[in-house]
Order: sequence, then C-alpha cells, then structure tokens
Amino acid sequence: MNRRQFLKSTLFTAIGAVVLSACKKVTAETKKIVGKVYTKKFKNLDISAIGFGLMRLPQKLGGPDVEAVQKMVDYAMEHGINYFDTAWFYHGGKSELTAGKVLKKYPRNSFYLADKLPLSRLGGKDTVIPTFNEQLKKCQVDYFDFYLAHNINKSEWETVKNYDVYEQLLQKKKEGKIKYLGFSIHDTPELLEEVISTYKWDFVQLPINLIDWEKTDSSGWYGVNAKKQYEIATKAGLPVVVMNPLKGGQLSTLNNAAVELLKKENPDASPSSWSLRYVASLENVFCVLSGMTEMEHMVDNVNTFINFKPLTEKEQKVLSNAIAVYKSSGAITCTYCQYCVGCPIGIDIPKNFNIYNQYKADNKKENFIAAYESIKAENRADKCISCGVCKPKCPQKLDIPTLLKDVAALYKKLS
Ligand code: SF4
Ligand code: SF4
Repeated sequence: MNRRQFLKSTLFTAIGAVVLSACKKVTAETKKIVGKVYTKKFKNLDISAIGFGLMRLPQKLGGPDVEAVQKMVDYAMEHGINYFDTAWFYHGGKSELTAGKVLKKYPRNSFYLADKLPLSRLGGKDTVIPTFNEQLKKCQVDYFDFYLAHNINKSEWETVKNYDVYEQLLQKKKEGKIKYLGFSIHDTPELLEEVISTYKWDFVQLPINLIDWEKTDSSGWYGVNAKKQYEIATKAGLPVVVMNPLKGGQLSTLNNAAVELLKKENPDASPSSWSLRYVASLENVFCVLSGMTEMEHMVDNVNTFINFKPLTEKEQKVLSNAIAVYKSSGAITCTYCQYCVGCPIGIDIPKNFNIYNQYKADNKKENFIAAYESIKAENRADKCISCGVCKPKCPQKLDIPTLLKDVAALYKKLS
C-alpha cells in the first residue's frame, strides 16, 4: 500500500490499481507501540512534533470515513499526538465537521485544534466573523487554539488588508476565541516578509520539505525556496508549523532507485520517516503536519516520533542524494493539493499527474495504461485545450497544460 497516496481511494478505485509501497508495511495489530511522541515547545505549551493534518482523511461514500478517522485519532491521542489541523476547504467542508465529531469525546484542554479562515471565499468585511463563528460550530468547539489566515498569496493579501481580516481576528483573540493567530502561505519570500512586517502574528505555517528547500534548480524543478522562508520566519522570531513535509506524498514513495539508497542506509526506516525527521529537526519548527490517510501512516509516524532522532549529517547527505535521484526520474512536482480543480473542460489534473508520477516511480507500463484508461475520456490529459485557466491557481507554479501534453504523449507512446 502506498504510504501517502491519499489519492488512492479516489483515483484508483475504478481499476483497482496495484500501487506498490515503497515503505515497510506496519500495522497497529502487528506492532504494538508504547510511549508518547516527541514534543516541542511553543511558548509554554508542549506540542507534539508531529501533528495530524485532516486534509487527506480515509474516505467512504464520498466523504471522510468518520469511524476510521476516530480510530486514528484515538491512536494519536493515546500516543501523545495533540495537534490537529483542519480548514474550511479540506474535504469540501467536511474535514471541520469530522474534526468536531472525532474530538468531542476528549476534554477540550487535552488537544490543540488549528483551523483556517477561507480568505478566497470571503465576500466582504462583514463575512469574516460569521465565517469564523460557523467554523467554531462545525468543529463543535468554543475556541480555536491556533487560527490562521489561509493560504495568503498576492490576491488574498489584498483581501486580508481590505477586509480588516487581521483586526477582526485580533478582536476574537482578545475575546479568547483564538489563542494564537497566524497565517499560511505558499508564495514568495518577499510576500512572506511583507506579511510578517505588517502585523504581529504568533506563528506561521510554511511548506517545507527537501524538494522545496532550494529555489528552482537546474533540472527545472520549482521550489518555493523553503530555506529562505524558514530563515525569514526565524529571524522575525515567528515559530513555524510545517505543512507539506512530504511534498504531497512524493517523498514517501520516491522511486525505486531512490528508495534503494535509503534502504541501504537504514532498512527499517520508511522513506517518509526520513523526510519527517529532516523537517522536525529544524529548531524553529514546533510541529510538522502529516496528512495521514490510513492507520498504517499513523502507526509509522508514531513510531518515528516516539523514537525521534534528528537526522545526522551523514543521513542528510543520503536523503539529499536519494532526492536528487528521484528528481532525475522526470516526475511532476504536483502535490495533488487540488487547488487547480474547476477546469472548464473537466480535465482531472491531479489524477493525470498522479498516474504519470506513479509510472515514473515504478515503470509499470500496464498499470499506467490501465490507470489512464480508467479516467473518463473527457477528463483525460489529451482533452486539454491549453486555455491556461488552471495555471495561476497552482502554488507549485506548474506549467499544467504542457505537463498534461507529456502525460498524453506517454499514454500514446506506451499504448
Ligand atoms: S497541478 Fe498544482 S494546483 Fe493542481 S494539484 Fe498539482 S500542485 Fe496542486
Ligand atoms: S489549460 Fe487545460 S487543464 Fe488547464 S484549465 Fe485549460 S483545459 Fe483545463
């Protein structure tokens, strides 16, 4: 089973695609883990260094499988994971509802809940507080521990300023409805600096992983220059929550050649554990969010963080080499975030990219063909008309129409 492929259930159910795991299968039944995960300090709080990101939950009948999520949350709480991160947009609004259902059995002071203001759906100044109140209701809580302006980019930055978002949320903080106020951002270091210097925030959520650590490199991979962003936040004294530590699951699967390098160094460690340890080792990071889709992921993460050890210099080199090998495979740096949905033609962009990347990882021609043919004809890459509507929506700055041509060409070549 693929370690991080949230898309598995939605992408491959039709064909029952066999997606081989790059990591060791571990289940709660086969390995009883005792103990609590490693914690880091945020102010005077002890926060689990690994947090449960509720954006890639197990699914059933088109929504989160609440029973399965409950089991994962129970396991998390049992092992000291106390940070849960949701947002309006996750699972089409159902992540918040699920968070409310699965956390309500626990005392409110036994977990930290983070939620985010959906900037892009606000309709004016007067929509900020009603949206916030609705989120409290959906999550069945009367305050958020951590609350963020969600996904600030150039256009949403205007929303923050024009709609007095900060001022209104600060008032909620004064009322005790928000304990700590922050923002998430997938944009440039320059914008990050501007946002930090304009208002007084308590924390920031940044996409940090080794693929994105440096700026676009000579192989053409786009990176958000996470290193620089981390340094800016640190210099400003702003603690960091990490999102996307596995680059949408890519760092949990890599490709066979890269996984071999990691296994040679440590046969027992899953590929994802390497990258999670890397980001959790950064001093100014107090929590790393992992979007877990199955109990197997939860158990693996708990195992990594109970026995947490920062990556050694030697291990960092091994990981960097493995990532360089993976990058050279030609995979698309899509994180399957779905921000590009809404193509007027109906192209399912993340699905097309996912099966392409799976082929780059395993070279299994039959699987690729079957997966491509399982996509409805009108949603396939070859139907893209290159209108460009999707391009500005992509936080990874992918040239989506060109990459879709690559997917279509691969199918033509292999079929
Ligand atoms: S193409 Fe871009 S926006 Fe679409 S899923 Fe991939 S990373 Fe996200
Ligand atoms: S460029 Fe292609 S995938 Fe993007 S919106 Fe246009 S038709 Fe859809």
